[in-house]
Amino acid sequence: MGLRRTTRSLCVQWNWTPQCVASFTVPSGVHGDTGAFRICFREGIPTRAAYVVPSRNSAVESLAHRTPRGRRSRSRASHQRQLLLKIGGDVVIEVPTKLLVRPVARSGELAQAVLLRVSGDNALSSPRSLATLGWRGDNLAERLNGGSIPIGPINGLGLLNRSAGNRVPSRFWTLRRSRFCPICLQETLFWKAEWGLCFTVACPIHRVKLVDRCSCGKELRWTRQNLHSCTCGEDIRCLSTEPASKTAIYMSAEIQIAGEACWSDPSVSAADHLCDLLHRVWLLGAHVVGTGVKRKQLSDLHDCRRATEVVEAAGRVLGHWPEAFFELLDDLSAGIPPDKSNRVAAAFGPVYRDIYAKGTWRAFSMLRESFEQYVRLRWTGQVAKRNRRLGDEAATEHVWIPATRAAKELGWRAPRLRRAIAAGILRGHVRPLPSGRTMSVAHREDVDHVKKEQLQWIDLSTVCRFLRIGKRHAKGLMQSTRLRPVTGPSVDGSSVWRFRQIDVTELARTLKTEPAV
Ligand SMILES: [Zn+2]
Ligand SMILES: [Zn+2]
Repeated sequence: MGLRRTTRSLCVQWNWTPQCVASFTVPSGVHGDTGAFRICFREGIPTRAAYVVPSRNSAVESLAHRTPRGRRSRSRASHQRQLLLKIGGDVVIEVPTKLLVRPVARSGELAQAVLLRVSGDNALSSPRSLATLGWRGDNLAERLNGGSIPIGPINGLGLLNRSAGNRVPSRFWTLRRSRFCPICLQETLFWKAEWGLCFTVACPIHRVKLVDRCSCGKELRWTRQNLHSCTCGEDIRCLSTEPASKTAIYMSAEIQIAGEACWSDPSVSAADHLCDLLHRVWLLGAHVVGTGVKRKQLSDLHDCRRATEVVEAAGRVLGHWPEAFFELLDDLSAGIPPDKSNRVAAAFGPVYRDIYAKGTWRAFSMLRESFEQYVRLRWTGQVAKRNRRLGDEAATEHVWIPATRAAKELGWRAPRLRRAIAAGILRGHVRPLPSGRTMSVAHREDVDHVKKEQLQWIDLSTVCRFLRIGKRHAKGLMQSTRLRPVTGPSVDGSSVWRFRQIDVTELARTLKTEPAV
C-alpha cells in the first residue's frame, strides 16, 4: 500500500519510547486543525507515515478508520499535536517534498549549523534528509530564503557536503564536533562561524571555555537531530561553562576578529590575514606540544581540550615575542646530538624546514625574521655562506664564525686560535665531537678587533730599534713584565713575539725618565 505524495505533507518525528509507543510531533508553524496523519500499514505493521493537509488533498481517509487501535491526543492551545499509537514494527517516514519552515541564514552563521537548524525546525530526523529535497552544499544560498551565504565547509552529510574552498583550508575547521559558547547561544540563538574554526577555544565576551560535550558525556556531533539539543534531550544552551585562561581568551579574540573580517569582506587580503594567523598558531603550537619528526601533523583538534593545549602553547610564544620564540629554538636545538648541532638544518630540523617551506612566505615572514635574528645573535653553530634559505645577513652578520675562517682571517693556525679562545683573548666555543676532533667558533666582533689591532703589532727587532736597546735588554724587560708581548711562545705558543705599538711607546717614555743603566 503506497502513499501518494502531496506537496504539503510533512515529515514527522517518530520516536520509540520504552513502552513501545510511537509519538509524532508536528513542527510548530503548522496552522489549522484539519490535517491528519496518514499511516500506511503492511500486514498490520505501519510502514509509512505522513501529515497530510486536506486542502491540497481532499482524499484523506479518517485516521480512526486506518488505525482502529490508535488513540489521538490533540492540544488546540499549541501548534504541537501529538498522536500516540500503540503499534510496533519498522516505520518508513515519508519525506516531505517541500519544507514548511525555511529559515533565513544570518550573516556570519556556520553552514553546518544552518543545515541542522533547518532540519530541526522542520522536524526532520537528520540534516541528510534535506538532500532528498534537492538541497546541495553549493546551492544553500539559493535554497535558503535569501539572507547571507552560510560559512564554512560541510562534512558527513553526503550530498550536502561541500569543501572549504580556497579561503580558509579545511584543516582549520572542526568538521566532526560542534563547539560553542552556551551563554552566547542563549543570548543570540546564533551559531557563530568562528566557533567552527579549530583554534577558537574560548568566548572572549563571556571569558569561558567553548563547550563541545553535553553534560551526559556525549560529543556534540553535527549529525544530531536538533541544533539546540543533545541526542539525550538536554538543551545545550543550559550547559554549564568553565572560565578560560587569559591566553586562550586573547588568542580566540584575535581569531574571532580576523574571522569576522574575513566573512564580511570577500577580498583576498581579509582571508589571508585569518589564514596567516591560523598557520602561525598551528606551527608554533605543533612545535611546542608535538613530538617527533611528524609533530606538525596535529591530530584530534576537533577536541576542544586538545585544541586549547595547542592554542595556549602558541599563545605563550606569540605573547612574548621574540624571547619566547628564542627559548623554543634553544629547546629544539638542545635535543640534537653535538656532532649534528653545528649546521642550521640539522640543529633545527623540522622547525627550520617548516618556516621556510614553500607557500608559507607571507604567513611565516615574522617567524623567519626572528629565526634569522636568533641565528645571527644567539646560535653558536655555523651558517654556510651558500645557505640560500637564510637571508644574506644571517651568514654575513652571524656573530659566531667557524674557527677555520677566523684563523684564516687572522693569519693564525687553528691550535693558536683555540689557545686564544681558551685564554679569553677571543670569545668562542670549542665543541668536542664524538670522532675526537673539535668544532670551534669565534665571535666575529672579537676576530675583527684582533685583526685591526694586529696591524699595529710590532715584532721584537722593531721594538729594539724603537727603544734603541739590544735584544738581551729587551728580554730582560719582558722578564720583569715591563714589556708585555700580546702574542709569542710564552703567551699563546706562537713562534714570534709581537707587541702593541702603544705599549712600546709608553715604555719608551718611562725609560727616558729613568737614569741610564
Ligand atoms: Zn559567549
Ligand atoms: Zn547529552
